[in-house]
Amino acid sequence: MPDAALATEKIRIESIPAATDEIVVRDPRSQKVLYSFKEPTDAEVSAAFARARAAFEKTRKMSVAARVRETLKLRDYILKHKEKIVDRIVQETGKARVDALMADVAQALAIIDLYSKSAEKYLADEKVPTPIILQGKKSYIHYEPMGIALIISPWNFPFNLAMVPIITAFVAGNAIVFKPSEWTPLKGLIEEIVEGSGFMKDAITVVYGGKDTGQRLIDERPSKILFTGSTRAGKQIMEQAAKYLIPVELELGGKDPMVVFEDVDIDRAAHGAMWGGLMNCGQTCTSIERVLVHERIHDDFVKALAKKIEGLAHAAEHGDKHDAGDLDVGHMTAPFQVKKVEELVEDARAKGATIHTGGKREGDSHAYPPTLISGVNAGMRVISEETFGPVITVEKFKSEDEAVRMANDSPYGLSAAVWSTDLTRAERVARNIESGNVSINNVLATQGNAALPFGGTKESGFGRYFGPHGLHSFSHIKSVIVDGGKSIEPHWYPYSKEKYTLLSSLLDTLHGKTGLGKLLGLMSIDKKLRALGKNKNA
Ligand code: NAD
Repeated sequence: MPDAALATEKIRIESIPAATDEIVVRDPRSQKVLYSFKEPTDAEVSAAFARARAAFEKTRKMSVAARVRETLKLRDYILKHKEKIVDRIVQETGKARVDALMADVAQALAIIDLYSKSAEKYLADEKVPTPIILQGKKSYIHYEPMGIALIISPWNFPFNLAMVPIITAFVAGNAIVFKPSEWTPLKGLIEEIVEGSGFMKDAITVVYGGKDTGQRLIDERPSKILFTGSTRAGKQIMEQAAKYLIPVELELGGKDPMVVFEDVDIDRAAHGAMWGGLMNCGQTCTSIERVLVHERIHDDFVKALAKKIEGLAHAAEHGDKHDAGDLDVGHMTAPFQVKKVEELVEDARAKGATIHTGGKREGDSHAYPPTLISGVNAGMRVISEETFGPVITVEKFKSEDEAVRMANDSPYGLSAAVWSTDLTRAERVARNIESGNVSINNVLATQGNAALPFGGTKESGFGRYFGPHGLHSFSHIKSVIVDGGKSIEPHWYPYSKEKYTLLSSLLDTLHGKTGLGKLLGLMSIDKKLRALGKNKNA
């Protein structure tokens, strides 16, 4: 197909319905309708990109410091209105108030803080060494804005997974088109923050809709896509993006293991497993889903963990009354996810697993009680599939090798945790686990440091954001060589047998000799090459 045709053709992965569907947003606690809206028309989708294209002409010309100053306006507004923001998050997700504050709002503030201190350094032109063979030149890396960053996010952290990628893409100089999840769109919140804070107009455009809208946004050919969501959707997005050669970064699902050796403080490790597995009602891509415990302490660990879980204040017990910050485990958000959790737990029960806590919900309530399961095996769905709910399984291992094998026996590779007082062993195991992130003697801790890159391996996706990598992943990385204009170029024309022999001995000296011998050899060859250049007028 000629390039011109490729440029205008709209490519879809599968036939999708006309964009007239209504999206209804409910409070997961009461299941009452909060509001509804229609999918955008094709004209509205195109208008969003036209607006972003115009904004990019401004963002690309701003200094990094000026962009950072814009994000500080967001910080001030978010800080001032954080209770209202938490209210909106809780209303649409049903999560515990502390989770909304610390896993959504705090993460947005953390990325602004990091980039306000370090973005100028991370995005500065970088001088790199220039080899001696390229004498008279200097080498640099430039980090340049890409254009329009399309960010598509899931429902579990609707504020964090909006603001963190938006801020990152903006600080790198891009304009942003953002599509939140249809389950938790927080409709109007970002616009309100932008408007109320005085943040640069038009740099962020939010488009509300579902999968169909996501596909139509990709058809507009953004310069980069950052997708966070399921592995299934990530593959579809990559396939669609491949048609246009749009670079994608995929932050996908997980099935994170926590390896617990026999020398740990059982009480602290059980507490860590409980929070790591149940925080955000287990709807965290990096939730601890599988706890692998050394056989020597397995039974004591399960007992301690069950006792702790029984002491939690959870939504199944407290109903849907408003949470003032004292609820530990909130409601689940999406109805299909509650059903999936139910199915996985029932499958484990039917196959003989022991359910120590929870394991049943009332009617169609989204309050699924925190559930601890042991006696599981690889044939159970709860072991092989992402649960993405308040369920923790515990398995036994006998040796370090077996623990690593079990931890890696998953198509996913997002995060992991390793617990041992023997730090040499813990670090060795951490290196052998196939994952993008590992916390030692802690859980979900790597995400607590915005300077650490975040991302997955295997079916958990690829690409990294946060830290310097985040800004670089939203940049065109351009290599530049500056020549003073006076150096000889021995490998330029004209070629000759004599030049060939000299170049051959240049390689021998450059890569085969060291010290003074190398220096003298190079000087001698340089002299001969210059003489040759003069003789041949080259
Ligand atoms: P999802 O994949 O169903 O949807 C995510 C977003 O993508 C939504 O906005 C949806 O409308 C859109 N979408 C879906 N299919 C699309 C397509 N073909 N083209 C364009 N857009 C499309 O995921 P979800 O149910 O919202 O979220 C749960 C999943 O997200 C879990 O698997 C979880 O592990 C993962 N997750 C990963 C991370 C991470 O950083 N790795 C973080 C949070 C959640």
